[in-house]
Amino acid sequence: MTVNIHGKEYKTVAERLAEFKKDLGELPFEIITEVQLIGDCALAKTTIRHAVKGSSGFLKAATGHAFEKFGSTTINKTSHIEVAETSAVGRALAFLGYAGTEIASADEVAQAISQQGGTAPAQAGTFGQDIECPAVCAACGLKDLDKSVVDFSNRTFGRTLCRKCQDIVRNDKAGKRG
Ligand SMILES: [Zn+2]
Repeated sequence: MTVNIHGKEYKTVAERLAEFKKDLGELPFEIITEVQLIGDCALAKTTIRHAVKGSSGFLKAATGHAFEKFGSTTINKTSHIEVAETSAVGRALAFLGYAGTEIASADEVAQAISQQGGTAPAQAGTFGQDIECPAVCAACGLKDLDKSVVDFSNRTFGRTLCRKCQDIVRNDKAGKRG
């Protein structure tokens, strides 16, 4: 089952994982997530490898990345490491084909919308005063964002998003109003 958000089909990470395990059956697999802490940021990298029927060894593999900043959303005040981990697993599963029509999971989109829908963004300067998070889009993983884009996004959305993902969040908000 997918979650329909403004005409796009998103699956939760739990659904992706359940389908993946069901499809594999007895075939061996491994899901390895490494979390790196850089200042207030948790960077998660998940690698999934699995066997293919009729062959030995892990023949198929995919990688997913995600990062979350401590305090950037309500949930990130307690669980930014877990959120990054879940997103990275969901993205790796999406690259193996376990997505709806979208790479971002329903969990990620719901978090972005709830953040936008009323909870106050983290106070500027409260977290990460000295160490900046890497300029990576928290939703799609796009790297090397301009500082102006990062500053604007953190101020407006409470998290780092590229221009494209900012539009997605903005459109979701506009749709809610209409
Ligand atoms: Zn993005």
